[in-house]
Amino acid sequence: MPFRPRYLVNSNHAELWPAWLLRARRNADARALATAGWVVRDRDGAYLATIDSKGKIHLLPPLHPSRDADGWRVLARDADAPHAPVVALPMHGLERRLLELGLDADDYARRSGLEQVPEPSRLSFAGFDRYRRPLWLGDAASRAWNRMRVAAADDGVVLDAISGYRSHAYQMGIFARKRARGLSVDEILAVNAAPGFSEHHSGNALDIGTNGEPPAEESFERTTAFRWLSDHAGDFGFRLSYPRDNPHGIVYEPWHWCWHG
Ligand SMILES: [Zn+2]
Repeated sequence: MPFRPRYLVNSNHAELWPAWLLRARRNADARALATAGWVVRDRDGAYLATIDSKGKIHLLPPLHPSRDADGWRVLARDADAPHAPVVALPMHGLERRLLELGLDADDYARRSGLEQVPEPSRLSFAGFDRYRRPLWLGDAASRAWNRMRVAAADDGVVLDAISGYRSHAYQMGIFARKRARGLSVDEILAVNAAPGFSEHHSGNALDIGTNGEPPAEESFERTTAFRWLSDHAGDFGFRLSYPRDNPHGIVYEPWHWCWHG
């Protein structure tokens, strides 16, 4: 039985995922995943290698000659120190990549009043979201979310996680796909924060839903779950980030809550 880590080690180049939370996409990977502790994933989600309980790296075919095994060794070392302090990762060329998408980061920051949000170096497994995907949050936010969820359940209210931590690369992918479909930068920014500027990058923000309710719709404000959150979320350190007429020009998001401690 391989060990089952409950955190994700993050870097600007790759992520270390607990193997038990991943499904093999090809037969060739299934055996490697079953015996591994960790899987090295690149920023686009491709599996690059597994790391066993002795820290030995096994490359997954097909091998990519430019892959950075030394960088993975650094990650594997971090994986061995689950209680080391979490640090903010460098922004690493974000502004250049935004420019390639037609977005001036300084100009956007001025107009929106939003700040760049770095990714943390480690995230905690906070359970599964509504879609049975692993939910990643910062350590304290993860504990607060699970305490809040239990307290709500005690009051007969179901709280569902829709989405927690999202990487810069993930948000960049959403942006690039919408651009490719012909949407303008402004059209996208009306509903999506610019990559690098979303509270979801911090691991402290959470989109919350409830049973029978579609995700991320304004109608969430008429649910008992929203009323419960309005009354109690503050006790657990969560705040509504984007109320009506917020100064950032972001649409009203009754489902989006951020942990502030
Ligand atoms: Zn959100």
